[in-house]
Amino acid sequence: MAVSGIGKYDPENIFAKILRGEIPCKKVFENDYVLAFHDIAPKAPVHVLVIPKGPYVSFADFTQRASDKEIVGFNKAVGDVARMFRLDEPGYRMIGNVGQDSGQEVPHFHVHILGGRPLGPMLA
Ligand code: 5GP
Repeated sequence: MAVSGIGKYDPENIFAKILRGEIPCKKVFENDYVLAFHDIAPKAPVHVLVIPKGPYVSFADFTQRASDKEIVGFNKAVGDVARMFRLDEPGYRMIGNVGQDSGQEVPHFHVHILGGRPLGPMLA
């Protein structure tokens, strides 16, 4: 079920549990600000989720409450992860679902990185 992108942070959401090590993930990258791991139900040959370590519900919440260091660190990590998978060429897609209308399911901010095949037009 889709969630609100601006609600109160739920520390029991699935990505919070992954961050605490209570649920396993296939980690691809980690630093002080960010964790990146493979999506459990990949929609492309590469489908990685990049999440901040801080408790932010969505991009809307992240860009209001996160420090400049966290925001810069997060953006850098997204680019670095894409490069780890050699996606700069031929390219990749970044998706961030925010709130109910987007269909966001997990109420911890995350960016999807999708690549490894031609992805076609995004908007149907
Ligand atoms: P959203 O719709 O919130 O933007 O995307 C949530 C994503 O999280 C989905 O692509 C879903 O497959 C992924 N996901 C949900 N639960 C888990 C989990 O326990 N582990 C991992 N690695 N991915 C998950």
